[in-house]
Amino acid sequence: MNGQEAVYLDHNSTTPVHPAALEAMLPFLREGYANPSSIHVAGENVRRVFEDARALMASLMGIRPAELYFNSGATESINWALRGVLEARPARPKVVVSAVEHSATLDVARRLAERGHELTVVPVDRSGNLDEAALIEALDERTGILSLIWANNETGVLFDVARLGRIARELGIVFHVDGVQKLGKGMPALADLPIDLLSFSAHKFGGPKGVGGLYVRRGVSIRPLIWGGHHETGRRAGTENVPGVIGMAAALEQAVVEWPEKAPRLRALREAFEGALRADHPDLLVNGSGAPRIENTLNVAFRGIEGHGVVLRLAQKGVYCSSGSACTAHDDGPSHVLAAMGLPGDHIHGAVRFSLGAGTDVEGLARARALIAEAVAGLAAVG
Ligand code: PLP
Repeated sequence: MNGQEAVYLDHNSTTPVHPAALEAMLPFLREGYANPSSIHVAGENVRRVFEDARALMASLMGIRPAELYFNSGATESINWALRGVLEARPARPKVVVSAVEHSATLDVARRLAERGHELTVVPVDRSGNLDEAALIEALDERTGILSLIWANNETGVLFDVARLGRIARELGIVFHVDGVQKLGKGMPALADLPIDLLSFSAHKFGGPKGVGGLYVRRGVSIRPLIWGGHHETGRRAGTENVPGVIGMAAALEQAVVEWPEKAPRLRALREAFEGALRADHPDLLVNGSGAPRIENTLNVAFRGIEGHGVVLRLAQKGVYCSSGSACTAHDDGPSHVLAAMGLPGDHIHGAVRFSLGAGTDVEGLARARALIAEAVAGLAAVG
């Protein structure tokens, strides 16, 4: 990379660990290693700090500590939400999701369908907005759970979960939200919203990987996914990831404090970058630009160019981005999200996602812009 620092534009895949989160974790990787279930003083001390972290996170999310369950992250939470609710509601075996969910949701929903559950996948329009008429038609008295993504990881498109949740609530349907890309980015107090369950992962907001949780509104019926012990009030067995949870709580605190300053800065950077790319590439499509989008995400498609090729050329020069979600980066074929949005054929393989974060600045984006122009010209030349 010629001594230049990398330009990291892949924050929707994962974020760097916030220094405050790292500092908060270190004592619990060193001396604070006792098991919080142990009845000796060392264990009790760890338990106290662990429960303080739960209380802090709950207050930052606008919920009660007893409504917050910790686990390995959003993939587990989504599995738990869908499977746990359907198991608890045998008279309502149907699941409804959107076509632009993360694969963590779509894969669970499809496997549930293979096991005999009814499944409806609700389409989106060209901008990524949910087809609300189709949603309303799909929701019925047999529907146990509706699961929707709040901020799309590929396009940044935001669903209006407050309005959609009210529709579900009127019909007695449990509403699960994939909040992975929204928590720490201006999420309102959850208690005030018609959301019953919300999944999240620490590594998307400056915490460590492999830790996250599920918000379960008091009174929602849900069976455990993992049996084996008393942990998390018997709803999620397994020795707690103490350093992970403590780091996650510290990271969320920082994210919430920093967001009011960060949001307008990221929006301005994203808009300037989008404008620059449009100027350089007149055929450029900006996916999701017709819908409300989260501040940090820009998904573009170059006409007649392989997005994957652009990503690889940029990576060789130290600019990191992605051509879809990180989880599907190794799959063949175009993104299911962009396919659901009906991306035109000559743009379908040309998608590149840039996701900005705390360290993103004007200089880094200027370097990315120049290298994108070079990569696109180079790829066009080789046809
Ligand atoms: N949902 C969304 C929107 C995501 O972006 C991700 C991760 O990319 C997940 C779910 C799964 O999160 P994890 O891999 O941390 O379990």
